[in-house]
Amino acid sequence: MKILILSRNAQLYSTSRLLEAARERGHDAAVVDYLRCYMNIAASRPQVMFGGKPLIKVDAVIPRIGATHTFYGTAVVRQFEVMDVYPLNQSEAITRSRDKLRSLQLLSRKGIGLPVTALAHSTKDVTGVIETVGGAPLVVKLLEGTQGIGVVLCETTKAAESVMEAFRGLDAQILAQEFIKEASGVDIRCLVIGNKVVAAMKREAGQDEFRSNLHRGGKATKVKITPQERSTAVRAAKTMGLRVAGVDLLRSNHGPLVLEVNSSPGLEGIEGATNIDVAGKIIEHIEKNVSLPSA
Ligand code: ADP
Repeated sequence: MKILILSRNAQLYSTSRLLEAARERGHDAAVVDYLRCYMNIAASRPQVMFGGKPLIKVDAVIPRIGATHTFYGTAVVRQFEVMDVYPLNQSEAITRSRDKLRSLQLLSRKGIGLPVTALAHSTKDVTGVIETVGGAPLVVKLLEGTQGIGVVLCETTKAAESVMEAFRGLDAQILAQEFIKEASGVDIRCLVIGNKVVAAMKREAGQDEFRSNLHRGGKATKVKITPQERSTAVRAAKTMGLRVAGVDLLRSNHGPLVLEVNSSPGLEGIEGATNIDVAGKIIEHIEKNVSLPSA
C-alpha cells in the first residue's frame, strides 16, 4: 500500500514511529508536510500537489494535523477524501474534535459521563455559571487551550469570578467545570483504535499541580482499566466519528468522566509507558480497512 503521513515534521516521535511501522509492514510510506500541499479542486481530476507533482496512487493518509493548522490541514485531508483515499481519521471528525465545546455537547447527547460544565458569554452571568457547576472549587478552561495551558483551578468563588472576568475581558471563550477532586491529579489516557482500547496509561500530576499533562511535568505509567472505562472510551471515540483517538478520562466517584477526545494522540508517552506497539496497530487497522482494487 502507499501510505502518506500528513505531518509537519518527520522528526517527531509519533510521525517517525508511524513511518517506521508502515515500512516494517512492507508498505511504501512517506511523510508529507500538509502545509506544502496544494490542491486542484476540479470535478474531473481532483489532485493534491506536493513539490510541483501530483501525489498519485495513494491508498491511505494518516493525518497528524497540529491544533494551529486545523483549517488548512483538514482541507488537505478532505481533498484526499474527494480522491477516494482512505483517511485514518476523516476531516470532519478532526474538525469536530477540535472544538472542545461542541465535543462536550455531542458526548452529553449520547449520555457519556462528563464533568458538569457551564458556559456563558456575558460576565453578568458569572454567578449563575459558578452555581451551575456546584460552586468552588471549580476549574476554568480556555476553549482554545491545549497541553493544560489555560486550565485554572479556582479554590474560591471570588477567585473563579476574577479569573472568568479576566479571561472574558481579553475576549477569550471559556468554560467552567466542576472540579473532580477525587481524581487526585490523575487522568487516564485510553488509546482507541476502531472498537478497541489498545493501550491505556495513567498520568499523574507533579507536586502541587492538579493538571496531569505530560507537558506540565506529569508522569505516565501503564494502567489496567475497568470494563466501564473501556466502553466509555470506545463510545466517546465513536460519538466523535474518530477511528483512532486518545480519550482522556477522570476517575470520579460516580464513574469515568470524559475530559477530552484527541484526534492526533501522541504515541511517545503511551508507547513508552505500556511497551505496546501502537504505531504498528494503527497500520494494521489501515490494512484491514482499505479495500485495494483487485488486481
Ligand atoms: P488540555 O486539553 O489543555 O490538556 P484538559 O481539559 O485536558 O486540558 O485539562 C488538563 C488537565 O487538568 C487534565 O489532564 C486533568 O489532569 C486536569 N483537569 C482538567 N479538568 C479537570 C476537572 N474538571 N477536575 C479535575 N481535574 C481536571
